[in-house]
Amino acid sequence: MVSSSSFNAIHALALILALHLASNLHAEVRPLVDAHIHYSHDAWQKFPPVEAVGLLRKAGLKHAFVSSSNDEGTQKLVRIDPELILPVLRPYRRRGEIDTWKYDESVINLLTENLARNRYYGIGEFHAYGDDINLPVLQSVISLASHYGIFLHAHSDADAINNIFATDPDALVVWAHSGFDDPEVIRAMLSRHPNLWADLAFRSDFEVDGKVSSEWRQLFADFPDRFLLGTDTYTPERWYYVIEQADWSRQWLNSLPESLADRIAWKNAEILAKRVRQ
Ligand SMILES: [Zn+2]
Repeated sequence: MVSSSSFNAIHALALILALHLASNLHAEVRPLVDAHIHYSHDAWQKFPPVEAVGLLRKAGLKHAFVSSSNDEGTQKLVRIDPELILPVLRPYRRRGEIDTWKYDESVINLLTENLARNRYYGIGEFHAYGDDINLPVLQSVISLASHYGIFLHAHSDADAINNIFATDPDALVVWAHSGFDDPEVIRAMLSRHPNLWADLAFRSDFEVDGKVSSEWRQLFADFPDRFLLGTDTYTPERWYYVIEQADWSRQWLNSLPESLADRIAWKNAEILAKRVRQ
């Protein structure tokens, strides 16, 4: 028969062991910041806000930069978890404005009103290529970002990125998907523009068998403070992959030196968030 005092002791020991295991387990999960999340109108029903935030938390995200068509999606998530969600202002009211927004001058009012009302870390993700940057709407977007001291999240080719910096040499720019460009082009762009960050959303060409390829490894090592992670939930269905994407990212990050892995995983994004005028 077990006395009640030894039962209590066993109980306490079991509890300590469980806590120890839990903290070890926790220590193994690398925190991440996802710099490319959208919560657009057609995702709201499939993944109600509480569920969407739950998925981001379950993925082990420290923060997520979120932009949505329209901005109400982002605000829904901010209201639930203001610590997790770092809002970014998208210039789209709904899906389907990717090609037309840049000619629509009413977008400027939309941005101006939202910027006056809420706090944002950036404007984007927007789609613009080459000389689009010289259109009045894009020029206003660049000057609004400069006025508020926030970044631009640009889904753009290298020409457009160059044009943004020609317009405002002090701009802070996150290059969505690293332009889907080749490592040598990304290298040239990062060398040329010290205020350019590159997100790795929706690309996997840097990974082979769960490890970073040698060419990309060199690129990451040469620009350790410029790469960011991203899932890009550009359709509602992409929300199913948020956790899978985080797990996959942790896998290839493990093939990098620890300090470099942490920078890409979350530190670069945290530094960018602090660069933004608060
Ligand atoms: Zn996107």
